[in-house]
Amino acid sequence: MQLDGDTGCQREYAILLGTAQDGGVPQVGCGCAHCAAARIDPARRRRVACLGLVDHAARQSWMIDATPDFREQWHALQRLAPDCPLAGIVLTHAHVGHYAGLIHLGREAWNTQGLPVYASARMAGFVRENAPWSQLVALGNIRLRSLAPDCEIQLSPNLHLTPVPVPHRDEWSDTLAFVVRGPIRRLFYCPDIDGWDRWAHDLRRFVAGMDVALLDGTFFSDDELAGRDLSQIPHPLATDTAERLAGVDCDVRLIHLNHSNPLQGPGPEQDWLAARGIGVGAFGARWRLS
Ligand SMILES: [Zn+2]
Ligand SMILES: [Zn+2]
Ligand SMILES: [Zn+2]
Repeated sequence: MQLDGDTGCQREYAILLGTAQDGGVPQVGCGCAHCAAARIDPARRRRVACLGLVDHAARQSWMIDATPDFREQWHALQRLAPDCPLAGIVLTHAHVGHYAGLIHLGREAWNTQGLPVYASARMAGFVRENAPWSQLVALGNIRLRSLAPDCEIQLSPNLHLTPVPVPHRDEWSDTLAFVVRGPIRRLFYCPDIDGWDRWAHDLRRFVAGMDVALLDGTFFSDDELAGRDLSQIPHPLATDTAERLAGVDCDVRLIHLNHSNPLQGPGPEQDWLAARGIGVGAFGARWRLS
């Protein structure tokens, strides 16, 4: 695991700790070319989408989402910022790629004491009311903190977080994206959304108000998953997002890439995206927020 420049970044920043859709790469049970290659070559493996936040002055760090790769992602974050213990976890929604890592906080493993877990009221209710997650609450491993939509909270003196509701399949919870505001720069983190036209905001205008945007890039094209009905798992296509944002004044990277997505590696699809000024998220990428 290579993190570019493990030392020397002494202020507030965000670090990308995972870039894949909930199933990761390689995905279990899949024989597609991407997964077959990733089984052989560790460099092609991708952890599930997760963002780390660090405030060196406050000596604290946070993770947005607790993924099935939580252990590895926590280790990476702590190796990068050993003086900044985890001060809380922020959850987007109740699909397995985004909260299942909470399981490591219980007494079988870390046994945290009152670790703040931020979530929407409905997501917090899901954790509180359903085993085995409810045991984390009952035993005091985590302390749930409900987030009100569009109301900014302060994580630390220099880092603020605004939950932004987004439309997404809501079997168990609603879904939040987040604006992270540092002393100077703003980052928008949106790993899952059903479609930009269903959102309350105009994508281009919203992203133009950010310095960095990490956006749902699950599928590159709609013929990617043979045998699966994509209307059952809607996401904006990467091509659609890129065309809407071509040339926008913001560092835009696509994340939450499905195992089937050709953007996983270099090729004509990445080139097509780059021609529109859009990038692909990479593990360990960092952005200063000050
Ligand atoms: Zn997801
Ligand atoms: Zn696959
Ligand atoms: Zn989801």
